[in-house]
Amino acid sequence: MPELPEVEVTRLSFADRIVGARIEQARLGKPLRWPLGCDAAALVGRTVTAVRRRGKYLLLDLDRGLLLVHLGMSGSLRFEAVLPGPALHDHFDLVTTQGVLRLNDPRRFGAVVFCEGEASAQAHKLLGGLGVEPLGEDFVPDAFHAGLKKRRAPIKQVLLAGDLVVGVGNIYASEALFLAGIRPTLPAFRISRPRAARLRAAIREVLAKAVEKGGSTLRDFSNAQGESGYFQLEAMVYDRHKEPCRICGSPIRMIRQGQRATYFCPNCQKG
Ligand SMILES: [Zn+2]
Repeated sequence: MPELPEVEVTRLSFADRIVGARIEQARLGKPLRWPLGCDAAALVGRTVTAVRRRGKYLLLDLDRGLLLVHLGMSGSLRFEAVLPGPALHDHFDLVTTQGVLRLNDPRRFGAVVFCEGEASAQAHKLLGGLGVEPLGEDFVPDAFHAGLKKRRAPIKQVLLAGDLVVGVGNIYASEALFLAGIRPTLPAFRISRPRAARLRAAIREVLAKAVEKGGSTLRDFSNAQGESGYFQLEAMVYDRHKEPCRICGSPIRMIRQGQRATYFCPNCQKG
């Protein structure tokens, strides 16, 4: 599943090239997770003014309105001057004066949604509940600690929920908790202020490193230039069940938390 770093890498791979492009056509394939929310023809003539990211949404600002793009479970975007006709899993094409932006999404949990503005009901429904950006300036230690204090759920679950800090998916939550030396099952409210500060720093470190390296471990991830943009994350714990901890040599353990696999070192993450 594309996580925040993949979405950011995707954004960086085409944002500069599409800005200023005028939409000539919007082609819809099979239904995605949510409908477009406007007549595709109504997009023609509008201009892309910026590409931003909020959580795992890409926001294509238009001179009137914006498009929210979500990659779902298996989506990827390409932006090329010319692309062949849509294939089986190509479900959205934005044909512009500067190239074609194409969403390929075999499982169709992704979506492209038009909103009149960021304050519209539709945009609010999708973006309103999102926590602060983990790589942004608003993700500050004291507010993070205060948020953790209010939550009794295990810290890993709190991170995945995304309402405190957004975009810390399964891989990155496991890795950040390892770096911070925190057991994933620890109730969030028990985390002290210094440990919350360490966890915040660890979250930023793992996400920034993933963006820098160009994505994560998703096998079929490719950025919008069609390059295989993913990298094999040098994971400390993720997907390393029974392998020796890279720090202390103890076997990494795997448990299930809310249907998701969690990996940790029982020695380096004692509490
Ligand atoms: Zn260890």
